[in-house]
Amino acid sequence: MCIFCQIVKGEIPSYKVYEDDKVLAFLDIKPVNPGHVLVITKEHYPNIEETPIAELNAVISAVKTIGRLLKDKLAIAGYNVTENNDPVAGQEIPHLHFHVIPRQAGDGNKPWLQAEYGPGEAEAVLKKLQD
Ligand code: AMP
Ligand code: ZN
Repeated sequence: MCIFCQIVKGEIPSYKVYEDDKVLAFLDIKPVNPGHVLVITKEHYPNIEETPIAELNAVISAVKTIGRLLKDKLAIAGYNVTENNDPVAGQEIPHLHFHVIPRQAGDGNKPWLQAEYGPGEAEAVLKKLQD
């Protein structure tokens, strides 16, 4: 059984922040910033495509609740919502979870390296997506 399933079952302790019938939210043990919350489905699904839409709706609704809570109670200026989908994207725990990461101005966390498309590259990608 995966570690998040064990947390859902109460076999491993967690700092629980929010719970409903489909969703559990708890503090990430290794936060990017204090108040970093993981929002998970209570059922085990490995990634977004495997997760039924009703469960995804419940998760994103809980993400909104957590975001409001963090802003109200921790006086944060904003937050990032991320979901590492599959190992190549940095997913370490194969149980769907969204990260809600508190941000403050000047905290130094830049999530993504970006680059311009080369000539014709955007058009080629778009063609593949549309074919
Ligand atoms: P990911 O790389 O998207 O799979 O993220 C997994 C996250 O789970 C990491 O940020 C870990 O710090 C966090 N994590 C791992 N074990 C636990 C645990 N027992 N309780 C809370 N967070 C955990
Ligand atoms: Zn699991």
